[in-house]
Amino acid sequence: MKMYDVSAPIFEGMAVYKNKPEKQPELSTVTNGYVTESRIGMDLHTGTHVDSPLHMIVEGDTMESISLDDLVGKAKVFDLTKVKDKIQKADIEHFDIQKGDFVLFKTTNSLEEEFNFEFIFLAEDAAIYLSEIGIRGVGIDGLGIERSQEGHPTHKTLFKHEIIIIEGLRLKEASEGEYFMVAAPLKILGKDASPARVLLFEGLSAN
Ligand SMILES: [Zn+2]
Repeated sequence: MKMYDVSAPIFEGMAVYKNKPEKQPELSTVTNGYVTESRIGMDLHTGTHVDSPLHMIVEGDTMESISLDDLVGKAKVFDLTKVKDKIQKADIEHFDIQKGDFVLFKTTNSLEEEFNFEFIFLAEDAAIYLSEIGIRGVGIDGLGIERSQEGHPTHKTLFKHEIIIIEGLRLKEASEGEYFMVAAPLKILGKDASPARVLLFEGLSAN
């Protein structure tokens, strides 16, 4: 069994959305010589994280509405590293995507360490297509699942269909195929997102 840690490391100076300084995690450490204790202050959308509907929907559901049962199980990685600009329906309709699938899209975002203002995102027509299939969740390796789409239709379409969104994955090492996924967001109550450790296991049965 091989395990892939597809989560982003968290540190001061890491890639953050649009390179905004206020989105950098702040870490401080206190030590009295032998006891060391550190604090972290950060945006819940830092690095690899799960979004909840509240992120884009007024009075939307918070992180508790997302069941771990839906975050642990089979996931399919699809290689979209040839795609430029955005993932459209035409890029994914030949893939074997079934109702209930959790799909992870690997793009050139995974090959870059710095924030790229032109990061690859999921276009609205692809989000509608995935909603029609009825997938369980979608993960992407950009710090956002969309950019430059007025009104955030990708987020809204997915949330409306109760499709879980994972952002900020690091899929460089994981090639296309099926995995057993463990996506474990911190158990933070009442919020719009939570940082997550996401692991993919190769050769582990999903049943
Ligand atoms: Zn987010």
